[in-house]
Amino acid sequence: MELSLSGTKMAGVSGLRSIMDDVAASTADASAGEWLNLSVGNPATIPDAAEMWRTALTDSLAEEFERAGCRYGPSRGSQVLVGAVVEYFNRTYGWQLGPENVVVGPGSQMLCFAAAALFTGPGVRGDRKIVLPMVPDYTGYQGMCMHDGGIVGVEPLIERQGEHGFRYALDLDGLGRQSDIGMMLLSSPANPTGRALDRADLDALTALAAERDVPLLLDQAYGSPFPRIAEVHTEPVLHDNLINCFSASKAGLPGERVGFAIGPPNYIDALASFMSNSVLHAPQLPQAALARIMRDGRLDRVTREAITPHYREKRRLAADLLAEAMPADMDWRMHSGVGGMFCWLWVDHPWFDDLELYRRLKERRVFVVPGRHFFVDPLASPGLDGHSTRCFRISLSTEEKVFSEGIRQVADVLREMRASA
Ligand code: PLP
Repeated sequence: MELSLSGTKMAGVSGLRSIMDDVAASTADASAGEWLNLSVGNPATIPDAAEMWRTALTDSLAEEFERAGCRYGPSRGSQVLVGAVVEYFNRTYGWQLGPENVVVGPGSQMLCFAAAALFTGPGVRGDRKIVLPMVPDYTGYQGMCMHDGGIVGVEPLIERQGEHGFRYALDLDGLGRQSDIGMMLLSSPANPTGRALDRADLDALTALAAERDVPLLLDQAYGSPFPRIAEVHTEPVLHDNLINCFSASKAGLPGERVGFAIGPPNYIDALASFMSNSVLHAPQLPQAALARIMRDGRLDRVTREAITPHYREKRRLAADLLAEAMPADMDWRMHSGVGGMFCWLWVDHPWFDDLELYRRLKERRVFVVPGRHFFVDPLASPGLDGHSTRCFRISLSTEEKVFSEGIRQVADVLREMRASA
């Protein structure tokens, strides 16, 4: 078999994907006993959210099966969902969207991938890159680049906060030095850090996008208006260079693949054509279900009453458990996440290595995610002085019991690693 250059890249398995396969294989073996999996990327099972989706999908199946399930539909998205999105955002934010501002895709991952293929790579203006304005960011972005060296991550500025806290800040000067931007792409609230852009950051990024005449794709899989897994939220804005991406996944429906983007018609038309050329369109029953719950207020209610409070409580619990379990005389720090589904931890000691932590924890039947996978080029980040291999991610969507025992094991392994250094 001979693969093309982009084929070779796309047929490869990323470092994180191989770890996820490892997790799946280990935990699938029932005879192997209990695993403590703190690496999950699935949203938590929240009963109210599950019930909302079950009812909406059942009603759509009963009432719309012929229209939605037995016919092809429009590549831009079903009229029912595009109409519901337009009506919902105009009502919620006072916008004046029309259907030309909306495109639906089979998950936001596919929409981001389509945008990367449309706006980056070789072109009339030379080779254009996907630029992540701040790493660490969602590791899935790295698989969207079909060309070697076609993705760049800008190192963050690191601010230590108190004894066990820290936060990343955008290095706008470093970003401004990037000369060949095709598209900027970032998640907010971010996976893995939970960092949410404030309005000043967002304005600076849209201004740069306008100056370079490129799109900024803002991936709001955890953001407002739903699933709103954030305490402080910058509400979405409209801008001529901004594509806002949203998803039903973290609101509880990751398996049915539905997401949508909102932006200016020139970008959105290109994305709709890409959907047509690649997947024809997103599945229509989940589109119908999403339209129902956006229209009748259920999604807003469940977000407000169940999803946001669930993760708020989990984050509080995580902070308490870490403070209790982690060695007080060790320089460990948690990123001050205001949102998102994860805790991002930094152990600032030369003896710490994220892959070694992963390996030792796996021996104890515990999984965490090594931090290096969230940096584009972890071993070549001179400005970060080893930081990219001294972090790891744990998920807030694990059950409380697993979570508290897992954190105790992490603390124990850290003591062990320090002792053997
Ligand atoms: N964007 C971010 C930041 C994510 O963390 C994920 C999934 O983990 C996705 C996108 C994928 O979302 P979807 O299921 O809508 O494709």
